[in-house]
Amino acid sequence: MNHSQSPDERLYAIVEQGLCVGCGLCQSVAGADKIRVTKTQSGFEQPVVLGELDHDTVDRIYDVCPGTRIEGLPQRLIENDTHQDNVWGPWRRMVRAWAGDDEQRFEGSTGGVLTALGVYLLRSKWVDFILQVKTSSRDPSFGEATLSFTSADVIEAAGSRYGPSAPLVDIAAALDRNQPFAFIAKPCDVAALRNYARHDERVDKLVKYWLVMVCGGYGSPSTTHAFLRRNDIDPSDVTALRYRGRGCPGPTTVVARGEKHDFHYLDYWGDNESLWGLPFRCKICPDGIGEAADIAAADTWIGGSPNRVDSETDPGINVIVARTRAGEELIAAAAADGALTLERDVTPDDMSMYQPHQMHKKYHAWARHQGLGDAGRIVPQTARLRIEELARENTDAINNFQREGTVKRVEIGKATLPTPEIWKP
Ligand SMILES: Cc1cc2nc3c(=O)[nH]c(=O)nc-3n(C[C@H](O)[C@H](O)[C@H](O)COP(=O)(O)OP(=O)(O)OC[C@H]3O[C@@H](n4cnc5c(N)ncnc54)[C@H](O)[C@@H]3O)c2cc1C
Ligand code: SF4
Ligand code: SF4
Repeated sequence: MNHSQSPDERLYAIVEQGLCVGCGLCQSVAGADKIRVTKTQSGFEQPVVLGELDHDTVDRIYDVCPGTRIEGLPQRLIENDTHQDNVWGPWRRMVRAWAGDDEQRFEGSTGGVLTALGVYLLRSKWVDFILQVKTSSRDPSFGEATLSFTSADVIEAAGSRYGPSAPLVDIAAALDRNQPFAFIAKPCDVAALRNYARHDERVDKLVKYWLVMVCGGYGSPSTTHAFLRRNDIDPSDVTALRYRGRGCPGPTTVVARGEKHDFHYLDYWGDNESLWGLPFRCKICPDGIGEAADIAAADTWIGGSPNRVDSETDPGINVIVARTRAGEELIAAAAADGALTLERDVTPDDMSMYQPHQMHKKYHAWARHQGLGDAGRIVPQTARLRIEELARENTDAINNFQREGTVKRVEIGKATLPTPEIWKP
């Protein structure tokens, strides 16, 4: 750790070097009187220092922050008969599925399996609540952390939120309840909470199920605003925004000045990847596939993207990857109950067909991290993600291209963000 910098400078380095995903955990670690994870002038949710920070606190943050540390499934959860795929990680079952309940399938982002599992966990009393993300009450393009205690709460949170979301901003309050709960979030959020388990023993005691969506990255606020402006909508007029769900993928629905506008998912996530404006951290993500979770759920479009014709009538089929025994047993119990409908088992090759972008990112992550080192940047610590092993399967030309490309990104400022300051409209 570089203690020649002040504690504030060290914390801000994570943000300025494009590694913060805005998960909110540093606020919980330091206390809301010292750090507030909030919308900043960059448009993202980022930590802003409010009180006096010390190096010990920042050391703890570096140890848990998913910008600086990302690990795969804890070794103790990988059993002798768990399959290990170099790209797709530990898995016990891969199966195509959807929510047994039609409303949950419809409301869900894909086939509603995460919603169905959340509802099933509550209904069967395996957990008392779900920590997850619903649409933000302050900014409809953002998500916000919520504790769901009823099926209706879980269904309200269904759907993908592509804007910033900080599910761990008040993890202390969830743990203080001293009740068993499930966590549904992005892979980096789960990596953060797994990291935090080393600092707070209540995490392993109380978090009974860890569920993720496979994640290719979230949309930066500037991308969402550009999308709205391209469609003659002033972002400040937006009162509701639903990215997808209600079909698969379902419409992107924006309400502005009382008027409802429906777009296709491909209007938001179009073919031109350079317009996506993914946060830098997502471009170097070593784990978008939720390796540290019990269960990861994904889309099943061949090639990773829907087409406009089929998506008119697609009711949604997820693929579920159960990585742990707990995940495998949850799927079996939910299917026996009718909460989930299982179609057929699949393999890692099918996963690569559904998610080619995830496969490529996994192969490129190590070289990109090396590029960060070359550029004098913080290199995220990784473990049990096999990224170096995968890079060895690449040609030198590919690794060099990725490595040098990352150095170039740093040099031209594409991996740099301003020091966070609280958003002023
Ligand atoms: C940022 C992002 C990127 C994604 N990238 C991919 C991808 O590359 N490949 C792929 O197959 N699928 C991707 N998805 C996931 C996909 O859209 C579905 O969420 C997934 O298939 C699960 O579907 P479902 O029908 O079971 O979800 P649902 O039943 O609708 O449940 C979705 C759950 O996700 C939670 N959630 C929604 N948004 C967020 C968020 N921003 N942060 C934390 N939790 C959230 C909700 O609280 C809800 O519990 C992405 C989703 C997000 C949010
Ligand atoms: S990724 Fe999370 S823990 Fe790390 S700096 Fe950002 S908000 Fe804080
Ligand atoms: S791509 Fe990785 S870093 Fe970005 S939101 Fe998804 S899991 Fe988090």
